[in-house]
Amino acid sequence: MIHRKQSGYDAFKCIADKCPKSCCEGWQIMIDDDSIDRYQNESGHFGQRLLESINFTEQCFLQNNSRCAMLNDNGLCDLHSSLGEESLCYTCKVFPRHVEEFQDIREYSLSLACPEFVRMLMEPSYRFDIIENEDDLLDDPDEFEDYDFILFDKLNFARDKMLHIAKNNNRPLWERLNQTASMALALQECYDQGDIFEMDSISSVAYSNSDNIKSTLDYSIKSMDVLINMEVLEESWRDSIISAQKYWKRNSNDTQICKSAMFPDSNTEFIFQKIFESLLYTYFCGAVYDGQIYARAMIAVQSTRWLMMLYYANHCKDLNSIIYLYSREVEHSDLNVDALITFFESEL
Ligand code: SF4
Repeated sequence: MIHRKQSGYDAFKCIADKCPKSCCEGWQIMIDDDSIDRYQNESGHFGQRLLESINFTEQCFLQNNSRCAMLNDNGLCDLHSSLGEESLCYTCKVFPRHVEEFQDIREYSLSLACPEFVRMLMEPSYRFDIIENEDDLLDDPDEFEDYDFILFDKLNFARDKMLHIAKNNNRPLWERLNQTASMALALQECYDQGDIFEMDSISSVAYSNSDNIKSTLDYSIKSMDVLINMEVLEESWRDSIISAQKYWKRNSNDTQICKSAMFPDSNTEFIFQKIFESLLYTYFCGAVYDGQIYARAMIAVQSTRWLMMLYYANHCKDLNSIIYLYSREVEHSDLNVDALITFFESEL
């Protein structure tokens, strides 16, 4: 089996009670079957507290004021403190780690919804890389019965090219995003025409600095409607998107503002580049299961554009929280990811 890990994956450490937006707050924490069985067998006073903290119908932890019922007033998990890390359910044990399975390949990434990972990513010394190693473990072949390994091979090859484009900081990130979008469109056309062997020949189209800034910006402003209409964890998030959209509607004809937002200084641009690389890595090859090549590339492209615009509309402040809130609200809802895929698919 081949294991690919995003850089920082093994080094990541949860900061628990120091976390500004704990993953134990705001969303429903689902409990896997094995953990539910273990929790039901827990006895004594703590066992009682545990049972009273679980919604067995929905198989998730109950919440008090949007906080997990096992989270104490000091911001620490009572389950972790009383029974140790091993007692945590799968969701809590792995977050913010994420695994995508592709037959004999496992791809491990870190979620941008975790403030501590975002802090790591924003460090100038953090560089997005994929570290690969191999072991002798084999999968159950029945699990991937309908798996199209030729398509995966083509997607993997295309993603390598896209990640190469993403790293080319001789060109502004804005151009690299446009290049990736146009490449994804061409790949989708090959796939839709049943010509997947042609996919290897698709390369990026060169863009110049000034190409499409106004039209792409107008598209990005209009398409914020998708974000506004999504399900939200906190209404304040929807309010912030509405306010950013208004800002951009007011300023979309101001060339200086547009250029400052889309061509930030190199340190800030490098952060957006790493977000783009992380999202491409996480989403793109999943097209082997649904054929949504363009939409999956666009999740990475358009999320990066929106984040650049949200940051600028927020007076270039609080980039860390803009990133993790975006990821919590958009990426961590299957409904919202489906809404994005449907939206980008409708452009084809
Ligand atoms: S969001 Fe990240 S740092 Fe915060 S509590 Fe969860 S895993 Fe830890």
